[in-house]
Amino acid sequence: MPVREFAVIGLGRFGRAVATTLYDMGFSVLGVDVDEEIVQEMVPHATHVVAADATDEEVLRSLGLRNFDVVVVAIGDVEASVLVTLMLKEIGVRRVVAKAVSEHHGRVLQRIGADRVVFPERDMGTRVAQRMVSAHFLDYIEVSPDVSVVELQAGGDMVGKSLEQLRLRNRFRVTVIAIRRGDDVVVSPGASAVIEARDVVVVIGSNADIRRMQEELG
Ligand code: ADP
Repeated sequence: MPVREFAVIGLGRFGRAVATTLYDMGFSVLGVDVDEEIVQEMVPHATHVVAADATDEEVLRSLGLRNFDVVVVAIGDVEASVLVTLMLKEIGVRRVVAKAVSEHHGRVLQRIGADRVVFPERDMGTRVAQRMVSAHFLDYIEVSPDVSVVELQAGGDMVGKSLEQLRLRNRFRVTVIAIRRGDDVVVSPGASAVIEARDVVVVIGSNADIRRMQEELG
């Protein structure tokens, strides 16, 4: 795997979680926050941590962020977040992922060139609700607003059947991309793969198709 370098600007709850998770996974992470105390706390959880005001253009340029693969803007203050995102795109950062605190903030971030806008609170609310109403729904990743990768606990109607028998792609336009069985993962399972009780089935499809499949298969 090529070395991937990430920078996270703003080390509040969200930024800290992003930085720490990437660092624990072995990636190189630069953390930036204006608050000295936060920067000190983050020293063990990132490759480098810098105390700086990211809205200061000179400071931002001096960080060499152009060479990073992804820069995450995790500042909740709308004005600072917009300004930093704009400057990062001007500097030529390839991929900027920005956190939005409201729909309006998100629209502005998108308009000024953020490559991806995330809404942590809204998305977590959706996720918690999804998990509460469906016993089989374990987790999901949004691929686009309409398409998701979803982890499902294999339901009664699936168990003991092969993918060929289930015909999920024909019936629901949903594709099984992996089957998790305890600690093992069968990636891209073939048509003869049989679903066992307690399997976790990972599927990709449109949200509407996945919902229809869940309703029919229970
Ligand atoms: P969360 O909801 O994820 O905790 P916050 O918006 O409360 O997010 O936290 C944002 C973080 O960004 C704070 O730690 C704050 O010190 C930092 N921050 C705010 N403005 C700047 C800035 N101009 N430059 C760098 N860091 C900043």
